Amino acid sequence: MIVILEPSLSEESPERKQLLDQLAALPGIEVRVHEVRGAEQVLTEVYLIGHTAHLSLEEVGAFPGVERVVRVSEEYRILGRHKDDRRATGFDYNGVHFGQDNLNLFAGLCAVDTRENVETMLKALKSHGQTCTRMGAYKPRTSPYAFQGHGKECLPWAFELAGKYGIRVIAMEVTHESHVLEIAEALETTGRPTGVMIQIGTRNIQNFELLKSVGRQREFPVLLKRGFGITLNESLNAAEYLASEGNSEVVLCLRGMKTNMGDPHRNFVDFSHVPVVKRLTRMPVAIDPSHSVGSREKAPDGILDLMHVTAQGVAAGANMVLVDFDPAPAKALVDGPQALHLDELQWFLDDVALARECYEKRLDLARKRPAPPGVS
Ligand code: PEP
Ligand code: MN
Repeated sequence: MIVILEPSLSEESPERKQLLDQLAALPGIEVRVHEVRGAEQVLTEVYLIGHTAHLSLEEVGAFPGVERVVRVSEEYRILGRHKDDRRATGFDYNGVHFGQDNLNLFAGLCAVDTRENVETMLKALKSHGQTCTRMGAYKPRTSPYAFQGHGKECLPWAFELAGKYGIRVIAMEVTHESHVLEIAEALETTGRPTGVMIQIGTRNIQNFELLKSVGRQREFPVLLKRGFGITLNESLNAAEYLASEGNSEVVLCLRGMKTNMGDPHRNFVDFSHVPVVKRLTRMPVAIDPSHSVGSREKAPDGILDLMHVTAQGVAAGANMVLVDFDPAPAKALVDGPQALHLDELQWFLDDVALARECYEKRLDLARKRPAPPGVS
C-alpha cells in the first residue's frame, strides 16, 4: 500500500512525525519513506510493507496528513500502474523533465574517445539546440582485449566540455558500483558543470547487487536497458529492484532482443513494447535504435533502417531516444559502423520531430472518439 502525504506537510512538522509514528505502529507493517522530486515540489510517499490486506483504504486515508492511498498489486509495486493510481509519471532532473508524456533526445558518442571527437560532437549538439547526450566511459565489451573505455580518467574533461556546450544530462553506463562514486566525485571536483543519468546496460540488468547499490543512491536517475535475452516481465522486475531500494527515477530503454529471428538487424527490434511498458508501469520509455539495428543499412526508399525504427518507436509514444552519432565513425573505438554521421543530425532531428507530431495527432484522434455507452 502506498500512502501519499499532503504536500503542505513539511519534513520537520510534528503532524508528519505523528502520522509516520501512527503508520509504523500498525501491526505487522514496515514503513519506508520515499521522496519524489517534482518540478515544483517534493512529494512524500510512504510504502507500507507487510500485512496490508486487512487495512482498508478508507481507514488509512482518514489519518490526518494523508492525501491519498493506493493499493498496489503484486507486480511492480512501486513503478507499476495500479488501480485508481493517479500518481504522476516520471521525474525532473537537472532542469530536464522525464515523463511518459514528453520526448528527450540523447544523441552522442557510444564511447568517450578523444577530446577532439567529444568536443566536435558536443559543439554539433549545441548548435542543434540539444541539451542531452550519451557517452560511455566504462564499456562492457564482448572481448577482454577490446577497448574498455577510458574510465574515470576521462570524466573531468568530458564533464567540463559537456558544461561548456550547455549539456544538462549525459547518459553514462556503469558496470560496477564504484563507477557511480567516481562519477559523483568527478562532478563534485569539476563544480557540477553537467548532470549524469546512470545507465545500466542490457548485460547487467540482472546483476542484482549492482541494481541494489545503484538503487540506494538518489543523486542520479537511472536508464535501465532491457535485457536482450529475458522476458519483459523480468526486465520490469529489474527496474523494481532499483525502486525498492529507494530510487524510482528510472527510465526503461528498449534496445532489441538477441535472436537470429531479427537478422539482418543486430537485434530483433522490440519497439512494439513502448505502449506496453507505459501501460504496465509509470516509467518513461526510451528506445535505442542504434544497438537494435546495429548498422547503417538503407531501405530502397533512401531512409536508414535505424531511422525507420526510430520513427516507429516515436510514433508509438517513446519518451527518449538514445542514439549513436560519431564525427569520425571510421576511427571510432566502439560501434563505428552503426553510428550516424554529424551531417545527418539535422535530418535525424527533423525525422524524429515528424514522428512525434504523428504521435500527437494520433493522441488527438484517440481522444476525439466518443465514449462508449454507459461511460461518462
Ligand atoms: C550502450 O548503450 O552503449 C550499450 C552498450 O548498450 P546495451 O547495453 O543495450 O548493449
Ligand atoms: Mn555501443
